[in-house]
Amino acid sequence: MKFYITTAIDYPSGEPHLGHAYEKLCADVMARWHRFLGEEVFFLTGTDEHGQKIMKAAKKNGLSPQEFVNKQSEKFRELCLKWNISNDRFIRTTEEQHIRVAQNIFKKIYEKGEIYLGKYSGLYCTDCETFYLEKDLKDGKCPIHGKECEQLSEESYFFKMGKYKQKLIDYLEKNEKSIYPKGKRTEIKNRLREELRDLSVSRSSFNWGVPVPINKKHVQYVWMDALINYVSGVDYPNGENFKKFWPADVHLIGKDILWHHTVIWWSILMAAGIELPKTVLVHGFINTSSGEKMSKSKGTVIDPLELAEKYNIDAVRYFLLREIPFGEDGFFSEEALIKRNNDELANELGNLLNRTLSMIERYCNGKIPSGKMDSGLAAKLELEKIKKHMQEFELHLALGKIMGFAKSCNQFINEKKPWMLSGEKLENVLYSLSEALRVIGLLLQPFLPQTAEKILKQIGAEKGKIENCKFGLLKGGEAVEKGKILFQKIQTE
Ligand SMILES: [Zn+2]
Repeated sequence: MKFYITTAIDYPSGEPHLGHAYEKLCADVMARWHRFLGEEVFFLTGTDEHGQKIMKAAKKNGLSPQEFVNKQSEKFRELCLKWNISNDRFIRTTEEQHIRVAQNIFKKIYEKGEIYLGKYSGLYCTDCETFYLEKDLKDGKCPIHGKECEQLSEESYFFKMGKYKQKLIDYLEKNEKSIYPKGKRTEIKNRLREELRDLSVSRSSFNWGVPVPINKKHVQYVWMDALINYVSGVDYPNGENFKKFWPADVHLIGKDILWHHTVIWWSILMAAGIELPKTVLVHGFINTSSGEKMSKSKGTVIDPLELAEKYNIDAVRYFLLREIPFGEDGFFSEEALIKRNNDELANELGNLLNRTLSMIERYCNGKIPSGKMDSGLAAKLELEKIKKHMQEFELHLALGKIMGFAKSCNQFINEKKPWMLSGEKLENVLYSLSEALRVIGLLLQPFLPQTAEKILKQIGAEKGKIENCKFGLLKGGEAVEKGKILFQKIQTE
């Protein structure tokens, strides 16, 4: 089995924000989960570095576009490091290899007669790099950015996207999992009832882009460049990775670019004769106290790099994964993060490890006793449900079930009162708790990788895969190694 997951590539005209981090985090959990299942995984992320907006931002910073993207792209790489993102490749659309592939696909479609030269005039938002129809505007402004659009007219190549309308509808009808959640699939189906226009796929008014291979006065439209990263990232057309991993299993994206990732991307692939990705998966936006989508222009940005400095990164990961129902919009606040850190990570999970290790040290000389797994406690682990939630992209529910099991373990301690027991009864309780912690550690690997490693190390167990999530694998006699507490409680004023 293979699993290929991508995030959208980030547009580095500005600084990384929490939305970028959240998307990478969710993709990271899925990539790690599939590795945990024993599958061969490829996880791609990166930066989308062309277009007029980059040119403008570079100029404002007194840099060439290339210097500017070199500097900006590095920040997104750093974000991956600080957030412990396990991507297999970080692609940049200014890489020569990507440019070659983007040109190759343009040329291929052109030679099939699917691209023609025409003239474009319309209302253009430079932030979206998108032309809008009058009726799509909100109060005469860009519906996403609320910015004035420019009237633009230029010679442009057009891709005959309009003729793919019925094919796209048929594809959507036949493939239930092509867009997830379901409501988003309906949304695209409804939008396809209207006229589907041909797509302008080149610009000649600026030059920061992939040169159109048949006319060097033009550069490829930024989406006709960026979307192609998903195949250039696995070395289309002849690379081993392309053969092994394409079609992508999941394109994880925000809801604002769903149209681009379905209608535009799919019709490009159809025209180029490339298989379509299996699922376009849409996550929600993160709101802050103002109740609006985080945006730099509105001044509600939370710096994800600072967040990673200020808190244990696993506490941040935990908060976002647990707090926000996957696929829906969520709410970020530091108070709520601190509350989950204190109540769930420190009090439930950290405390469970700490209590168990203390008892093993006190009663068993720091060695896990041999014993029998308590069947009542074992039954509290809902492994099949956890797997199902992950399959359905319900990350928050899967993590909830794992933490629910940790809670059951604490209740088990309270009920059994090991400090009142001795001999075999005591040994069975401590053995059961060690086994439970081992399985919790394994299951947390995709979500909280550093914490999982600490748990496993402290109870003398090894990292492992899903098949190790059954009870009875500890033999007894393993030395525990009590380390620093997992999560510090955070005091608030
Ligand atoms: Zn816009």
